[in-house]
Amino acid sequence: MTSIWLDEVAPDDHPPLDQDTSADVAIVGAGIAGIATAYHLARAGVKPIVLEARTVAEAASGRNAGFLLAGVAENFVAATRRYGEDRALRIWRFTRHNQELVREIVAREAIRCDLAWKGSAQIAGDDEEWSEVRESADRLGTESVRVRIVPGERAAIYEDDGELHPARYVRALAGAAVAAGARIYDGTRATAVTNGEVRTDHARVHAGAIVVCVNAYSQHLVPLRVRPVRGQMLATAPVGRAVFDRPAYANRGYRYWRQRADGRLLVGGWRDTAADEEVGEEERTTPKIQERLERFLRERSPEATVTHRWAGTMGFSHDALPYVGRLDSGVFVNAGFTGHGMAFATATGELIADVVRGKNRSETDLFAPERA
Ligand SMILES: Cc1cc2nc3c(=O)[nH]c(=O)nc-3n(C[C@H](O)[C@H](O)[C@H](O)COP(=O)(O)OP(=O)(O)OC[C@H]3O[C@@H](n4cnc5c(N)ncnc54)[C@H](O)[C@@H]3O)c2cc1C
Repeated sequence: MTSIWLDEVAPDDHPPLDQDTSADVAIVGAGIAGIATAYHLARAGVKPIVLEARTVAEAASGRNAGFLLAGVAENFVAATRRYGEDRALRIWRFTRHNQELVREIVAREAIRCDLAWKGSAQIAGDDEEWSEVRESADRLGTESVRVRIVPGERAAIYEDDGELHPARYVRALAGAAVAAGARIYDGTRATAVTNGEVRTDHARVHAGAIVVCVNAYSQHLVPLRVRPVRGQMLATAPVGRAVFDRPAYANRGYRYWRQRADGRLLVGGWRDTAADEEVGEEERTTPKIQERLERFLRERSPEATVTHRWAGTMGFSHDALPYVGRLDSGVFVNAGFTGHGMAFATATGELIADVVRGKNRSETDLFAPERA
């Protein structure tokens, strides 16, 4: 079944590419990463071409929960353990910048994507996580992050987090990129990428630079350490009462839920309960995960009617951070979002657009594709 988002917004008409062409920059993949890259390049006066195998936002970018969170999936204490305090803070600031960029772009381009800033709840699943959630809030509080603890729910509320309709956002951003000078071709699968040329089944594209933005599908085109992992969700018909006050992210990010302004409930995750099965590129729901999502839904809203069930494919990197930069072959990449592309990719699109244009950016080391 399709996602609630893709069900609600038809794709714009971008015909396939059927003849050889050239462009300043060729971008492969039209999810949030490829479209944000195209948008930032086009606004800087560089003319990009985007090649998309399916339609804009038809893969993970039109199948996610639409959370715009700051930080990585794990709490800040866990992020510090993994990346060191200095890098963890820089990553945090980068995702805050992503939130501000989304806010700015949505206003500038008058994008109607139900963007709301109700904050998010980070909820602990056990005692150890609860002590980390509290310590994370204390630590980030000293960095002027607006966060408060709700002990009764074993939760930290991050006041500045947001949510949106991902398919409306990415498809409208694609329209803004086209208005700024980008060309987009749907139904156009890249079969090979070298420095300066992209091949498709029907055409060749010559470009001054190539940026591969195919996330979970990276290994088909470039040597990148990205593996495909499945995520599943469900959505309900509108429920006429407030069930969830704000987007919630629980059990180290493995479980999440929200309620839209129209009353519909969304529940996703529980991948940790079948980790070995929830891998690969197949966008298929499974009874095992769907039953778990529904069991949770029934605890909170026995009356809700499920209208949509879907799956999407995420691209996991080796350390949960994206790869943004240039490979040895000269090809650029912007991929590996590890289930957090809405939180990163509007800003990594800006970052890679600057790198392609030869501008120095202080964040490049955080996401260097060759990092250990
Ligand atoms: C169930 C679920 C819930 C999620 N919830 C959230 C959330 O709440 N917040 C958040 O931040 N993130 C979330 N994510 C993750 C987020 O959706 C992804 O990180 C993000 O969409 C990745 O964007 P992308 O552009 O890199 O990849 P994609 O959206 O997957 O786009 C890649 C595009 O490349 C195209 N492509 C592939 N191969 C080729 C080729 N050879 N030639 C041409 N085109 C090609 C594909 O068709 C696709 O359109 C979730 C993901 C899932 C599945």
